[in-house]
Amino acid sequence: MSYPYDAPASQELFERASRVTPGGVNSPVRAFRAVGGTPRFMTAGEGPYLTDADGRRYVDLVCSWGPMILGHKHPAVLDAVQQAVARGFSFGTPTEGEVALGEEIVRRMNAAAPDAGAHPVEQVRLVSSGTEATMSAVRLARGFTGRSAVVKFAGCYHGHVDALLASAGSGVATFALPDTPGVTGASAADTIVLPYNDVAALEAAFAQHGDRIAAVITEAAPGNMGVVPPEPGFTAALRRVTQQHGALLISDEVMTGFRCSSAGWYGLEADQGTPDLFTFGKVMGGGFPAAGFGGRADVMAKLAPAGPVYQAGTLSGNPIATAAGLATLQHATDEVYTHLTKVARELAEQVSVALSAESVPHVVQFAGSMFSVFFTELSRVVNYDDAKQQDLPAFTAFFHSMLSQGVYLPPSAFECWFLSAAHDDAALDQIVAALPAAARAAAGRMSS
Ligand SMILES: *Cc1c(COP(=O)(O)O)cnc(C)c1O
Repeated sequence: MSYPYDAPASQELFERASRVTPGGVNSPVRAFRAVGGTPRFMTAGEGPYLTDADGRRYVDLVCSWGPMILGHKHPAVLDAVQQAVARGFSFGTPTEGEVALGEEIVRRMNAAAPDAGAHPVEQVRLVSSGTEATMSAVRLARGFTGRSAVVKFAGCYHGHVDALLASAGSGVATFALPDTPGVTGASAADTIVLPYNDVAALEAAFAQHGDRIAAVITEAAPGNMGVVPPEPGFTAALRRVTQQHGALLISDEVMTGFRCSSAGWYGLEADQGTPDLFTFGKVMGGGFPAAGFGGRADVMAKLAPAGPVYQAGTLSGNPIATAAGLATLQHATDEVYTHLTKVARELAEQVSVALSAESVPHVVQFAGSMFSVFFTELSRVVNYDDAKQQDLPAFTAFFHSMLSQGVYLPPSAFECWFLSAAHDDAALDQIVAALPAAARAAAGRMSS
C-alpha cells in the first residue's frame, strides 16, 4: 500500500540502524513489519505526546508498551531519577531503594487480598526485565516442586524464555514444539501448550501429566494477543486444578501489574484464589529496566542465597531504576486508576462509534483499564484462535491513517492500547478527531 506521508529523518535513521542491527530494531515489533512503512524514531516524550525525528508530534497510545502509566517525563519521576543519578549509578551492593520498592509491591498486593491478614506476596526478588522474571519464576517452581513440566496458554507471551517460546503440538495435552529456531526440542518438550479459557483442556492435561507438572504460567489477563480477559471461573479453575495436583500457579502480571488496578489484575479478581507466584515488570520500572517476581514465603525461601535455586543479576535492583519505579508507583494513585478506566471507556466507545458508522466489524475488550480493538466479525474473542481471525488489511489501513493524523497506535493488531494519567481531554479530542477518516480507510481496505 502507499502511506499517507513519509518520514525522511526516520527513514534515514532506519537505514543506518539496519546496517548495524538486525532488522534495524532492538525488539521486533518496533520495526512496523506487521503494518509496513517506516518505523518512527522518537526523540522526546512529554505527557501523552511523543515527538519523532522529523519533528512531528503524536498522541502516544503505546506508552512504551505499558510502563509510562503517568505519561512521559512525569515531573516527580524525573526528580527521583535525577536525585538518584546524582548519588551514583550502580554499586553492586544492596541499597535502600530496592527495599522500598519491594515493600511497596508487597503492600499493594497484600492490600488486595480478600482476607485481611492474607499475604499473596510475602517476598519479592528484583530483576531487570519481565523475561528474567518469568524465567526465574519457572526455575523456582521447578526447584520447589522437583518436577519439570510447565503448562502455558497459546497466545500468552511471557518474554523470550526458551521453554515459553513453544507452540501446541498435535493434540492439546501433548508436549510442545519449538516456536523458533534456537529453542531445542528438549526445552519445548517440557512445555504443554493449551488453549486459553478452556477448563476441559486444562483438566485433561493434568489428568494425563499431573504428577510431572511443576507449574501453570498464565498472563493474569492476557494482553499480548489483544486483550482477552479470563472468562468467569477460569482463574478459579486454574487455582483449583493446580492445587489438586501439587503444581504451582504463576500469574504473569508483567503487563497487568499496577496497571489494571493498584494491585494489577489480582486486585480485580482476588476472590478467584491467590497464585503461588507473581511476575511483575513494565509499570514497576517506570520506564527503566526493573522487574520482579514474588509470592509465597516458603517458595521464595528456596531462592539463593536463602535456598538452593540459583538466580542473580549484576544490575538487579539498580538504584536509578528502583527510584523511577518507586516514584511511579507512589504517584499511581487511586485517582490515576479511576482516570485510566474512564478515559479507556470513553475512547473505546468513540472508536466503536466511528468503526460502526463505516460498518467495519470489530469488538473492543477490556481488562480493567487495558483494552484493545479486534477487527473481527466475532462478537467475543476468548482465545488465540479467535484473536487470529482479524482483518489485518483493515487494521493496517486504520493504523496508517491514525499515524498520519498524529496518533501513535501499537503497530500490530494483536497489541493492547495503552493510556496514561497524562491523557487529558486535549489528547483524547485529537484521537477522536482522527477516528472518522481512519474508520473510512479501514472500510476501504476490508479483505471481504
Ligand atoms: C512484556 C511482557 C513480558 C516480558 O517483559 P520484558 O521486560 O519485555 O522482558 C513478560 N510477560 C508479559 C505478560 C509481558 O507483557
